[in-house]
Amino acid sequence: MKDAPINSPLVLAGAGHAHLVLFRRWLDDGFRPPAGTVLINPGPDAWYSGMMPGLLAGRYTAADCAIALAPLCQALGIELIDDSVVALNAAGNVITLAKAGALSYQTLSINTGSRPPPPVLNDGSIDLVPAKPFAEFFQRWQLWQRGEAPARLGILGGGAAAVELALALRKSLPASDVHVFSGRALLEGHACGLMHRARNLLLARGVKLREDVYIDQLRQGQAMNGERPLQQLDALILVNGAAAQSWYQDSGLMCDQSGFIRVDDTLRSTSSSDVFVAGDSAAHAGSQKSGVYSVRHGAVLARNIKAKLTGGELTAYRPQKSALALLSTADGGALVHYAGFTLSGRLIGKWKNHLDQGFMKKHRLTDAR
Ligand SMILES: Cc1cc2nc3c(=O)[nH]c(=O)nc-3n(C[C@H](O)[C@H](O)[C@H](O)COP(=O)(O)OP(=O)(O)OC[C@H]3O[C@@H](n4cnc5c(N)ncnc54)[C@H](O)[C@@H]3O)c2cc1C
Repeated sequence: MKDAPINSPLVLAGAGHAHLVLFRRWLDDGFRPPAGTVLINPGPDAWYSGMMPGLLAGRYTAADCAIALAPLCQALGIELIDDSVVALNAAGNVITLAKAGALSYQTLSINTGSRPPPPVLNDGSIDLVPAKPFAEFFQRWQLWQRGEAPARLGILGGGAAAVELALALRKSLPASDVHVFSGRALLEGHACGLMHRARNLLLARGVKLREDVYIDQLRQGQAMNGERPLQQLDALILVNGAAAQSWYQDSGLMCDQSGFIRVDDTLRSTSSSDVFVAGDSAAHAGSQKSGVYSVRHGAVLARNIKAKLTGGELTAYRPQKSALALLSTADGGALVHYAGFTLSGRLIGKWKNHLDQGFMKKHRLTDAR
């Protein structure tokens, strides 16, 4: 990896799911971005979220779940810069990188994702472990696996990822007590059958579940709701939704009330025609914060960045109404709600594995071209 160029015709920030799809599209249709195009990402790999719970359950290796960026960049003539965006001045078309400093761009595509929000008050007495970035979370899990596992391990969140992580960690860290704290009903918004089945599965595996509890403080080793202590913990994994990176809001780009960057239907910033945003970073009506939506953004992003660079027409992204929730259950099986039925078992697990492996095979360059 070389030093950042001073001016770039196209900067791709973050190797999120949408950019992986964009790479594949450009490889397939023979498009090559202009010389001087860069990808900025901390670390050499992109991690696929759908397989992370399986990795932590010991069902996959890290190599199964990560896509090496260097071969993709090399094939597309893109320079890979191991760095992070820490600031953006949209009015001046300049981004600032943590290590390499300022870099100006003609077109910028942001796919840097989100992070789970930490509790409001934290005195540092509980080891706080965000589920993202995945590479760091995985490193922490490896330490735990080597015998430093927390005796009392909390998971903050009540969505699909929290359920999957709880089941995975219960399996791979059998000496740890696993406590799930869901601010609402577990899997709220999903079909009743799925909520019920997931709840029963957690309890059957010995996970301690608390629903409708909002943890806002961590003090003296206690997870607390206001002044009410709820549970003594040694570590708390955050998988409680999506928070924006602070530089989105400080960039001068129009953002929603949560700090995500507003885009129109072409995935272009509503306040700068030089900036595209996809995946969790984007505030787009109809899109949800999930890997599935980011993947769908990728196809439109590939078309529209190419169109901007070559003087073509931009096309609109039409979000799907909903996404299938397929939850891995850490035993080779999975849970799904489909066509009015909640189904579980190894066949569903095989189906999920097939879909996940298909994504990896398609987007990894060593396997397919
Ligand atoms: C445990 C877990 C399991 C999940 N499972 C699923 C699932 O099965 N299906 C699903 O649809 N969703 C799932 N999700 C949600 C999913 O992870 C996110 O919604 C999805 O990753 C968002 O994709 P993205 O493309 O926006 O960004 P990400 O996939 O988060 O990628 C962002 C990329 O940008 C890089 N980056 C971050 N900050 C910077 C920066 N400042 N500068 C440069 N680069 C940066 C990161 O290193 C990363 O490579 C899961 C989440 C978790 C925590």
